[in-house]
Amino acid sequence: MVSTTERDGTTWYECERCGMLFDDRGDADRHEANCDAEEPTYIQ
Ligand SMILES: [Zn+2]
Repeated sequence: MVSTTERDGTTWYECERCGMLFDDRGDADRHEANCDAEEPTYIQ
């Protein structure tokens, strides 16, 4: 599920699986649907 985060006055959409941030809700939803990460990982 995508969560929202406020940063510098902008709303970001965060993938709860890997922690990646998106400025577009659709991008975040699409990413998360294909995200296989099971814990926060920024570099693989
Ligand atoms: Zn992800």
